[in-house]
Amino acid sequence: MSVSHFPPSDPRPPHDPLALAPEDCGRGHACQFCPEEPDCRLEKGHHEKRLLESRLAQVGQIIMVMANKGGVGKSTVSANLAAGLAAQGYRTGVADADIHGPNQSRFFGFVGERVRISKRGLTPQAFTAPGLAQPIQVGSLAFMMESDDTPIVWRDAYKHDFMHHLIGSFDWGPLDFLVIDMPPGTGNELITLADLLEGHDVAVMLVTTPQEVALMDSLKAIRFCQERGLPLLGVVENMAGVTCPHCGGDFHLFPRAHLAEALAKAGVSSLAQIPLSPALASGSDAGRPIVLDAPNGIEASAFMPAVNACITQAKANFSAAAADSLKAMNQQAQQAPELEQALAAVPAEQREALRSELAALLGNPPAEDATP
Ligand code: ADP
Repeated sequence: MSVSHFPPSDPRPPHDPLALAPEDCGRGHACQFCPEEPDCRLEKGHHEKRLLESRLAQVGQIIMVMANKGGVGKSTVSANLAAGLAAQGYRTGVADADIHGPNQSRFFGFVGERVRISKRGLTPQAFTAPGLAQPIQVGSLAFMMESDDTPIVWRDAYKHDFMHHLIGSFDWGPLDFLVIDMPPGTGNELITLADLLEGHDVAVMLVTTPQEVALMDSLKAIRFCQERGLPLLGVVENMAGVTCPHCGGDFHLFPRAHLAEALAKAGVSSLAQIPLSPALASGSDAGRPIVLDAPNGIEASAFMPAVNACITQAKANFSAAAADSLKAMNQQAQQAPELEQALAAVPAEQREALRSELAALLGNPPAEDATP
């Protein structure tokens, strides 16, 4: 799998997506972070749009991790999904869009770290662990705040800007997966991000607990995805069961019969059941995703079907993009002037038969004859 999906049918020389155009300033971050902003006379809207496009051009599959309710474990699932993908060798980033509770800095051990700005943009924190071929790139609002316990009260316009900066101003580099830890709810932030990412390979992973109240909220999120045409990979049921530390028996804090029934009715599959686990909570607090910390444990195994669902989705998108690209290349080859010249040299009565043979060779059926 590759981030660029497939070579474009009009091969251009390899270029840096942030390469300078004469009319651009060439900075890889938004104007808000620029010391020259007050005197700058360049067109700012264009710059921000180009930043976003150039970042997204380097990202393969985007996974939005959503929950319509806070506290159900959305950030925990985002961190462990990213860790599971990175453990399989994929270049992975985590964009912490949960502006009300940006926890990814904690879950990856970067509490207190602040963002650095270079000409290429804001530098994500690189999380490394034994066995990871590539670091996980972590970008969060937490890196831009004065202190980690500053509460965030923002007007909608600023929230909109932050969503732009998160994707456009961080120097993500080439990624196979960008996991976005979404804010809870289906409000403005979600709509803004869904708009920004339109036209890119985005899929949603929904997190819920089996409680009735969380379930009702999840159904709203499912409806949002269906209305927006966002592919929903499935649901991760978090805090789905507990193992008693004394007797070793399993029990369910919340009955899951309702959840299973409601998901089946909505046509959404339950991909993973993550137990309520002290090791998972303490691993998160210590900045070590349990999927990497205890890869053979029950928690890591529980996450695997969700990780694999992301990979399957990305591979399906890659295959579809590759097939489209090949088809476009073949169509171009069929219309090439050299081919027409060569065909012109063939006797007229053989020309159409040869054209059909060539089309079949290139994998394109000849156009239907429209004459009755
Ligand atoms: P959200 O992003 O939905 O607000 P978090 O992922 O931040 O939720 O989780 C809230 C708290 O619950 C965190 O302290 C986290 O460590 C803990 N937690 C989440 N899932 C589990 C679990 N399966 N077992 C134990 N603790 C969990």
